[in-house]
Amino acid sequence: MAGNWKMYKNAGETTAYFDKFVPLVAASAHCDIAICAPFVNLPAAIAATGASRVEVGGQNLYWAKEGAFTGEISGPMLVAIGCKWVIIGHSERRQYFHETDETVLKRTLAALECGLKPIVCVGERLEERESGNTEAVLKTQFDGGIAALTPEQFAKVTIAYEPVWAIGTGKTATPDMAADAHRHIRGLVTAKYGAAAGQQVRILYGGSVKPDNVKGLMAQPEIDGALVGGASLEPASFASIVNF
Ligand code: PEP
Repeated sequence: MAGNWKMYKNAGETTAYFDKFVPLVAASAHCDIAICAPFVNLPAAIAATGASRVEVGGQNLYWAKEGAFTGEISGPMLVAIGCKWVIIGHSERRQYFHETDETVLKRTLAALECGLKPIVCVGERLEERESGNTEAVLKTQFDGGIAALTPEQFAKVTIAYEPVWAIGTGKTATPDMAADAHRHIRGLVTAKYGAAAGQQVRILYGGSVKPDNVKGLMAQPEIDGALVGGASLEPASFASIVNF
């Protein structure tokens, strides 16, 4: 279960959040728990989560280790402060910051190289779903991005299926719609990396997951977890999603 705080909260709010959140999920041993916070809040998040089960991640990284790339943050920088995860290719990055399948691959390779666990996002836009192109879009994103990884590299990747029309809109994909897309992605993985990889890859659903719809989504065997934006910003709300 991963939370994506997007561009919300300051350092003080981060500490206050974890003071409430960590005890609420202390006994939640059924899943990994990660919060991906804005870069400047990562030290506060790491200090506040301490030795708890809650891990911390970035929302992006640049593929070079260091260099003249003003405004960017590298994988080794995230690792050095204690991050374990990183979100890559979120639709907001694809939409507003010109992220492409090619740069998603570069960032994923950079994350893997320094030991970060990448959560790689894929998903179709509304017009692509309405024109019956969901599966084709997912295939293009997979083939043009993470399908270039070696089997050993791919085994460390978590995929997030996030239909763009469901992110931050309050419109959740129905559990059946989400499961269909997950099945398709799993099929792509199986075709490329084999049946064991297809079964083992963790695929999260993201798009307006809330405490009142998480149970239905998680009842689908195809759905391994959730990537949660808005509903991860409040400790009780995200804890009730984690503890669905
Ligand atoms: C997200 O940011 O990845 C996301 C799924 O957002 P929301 O839960 O707010 O739709």
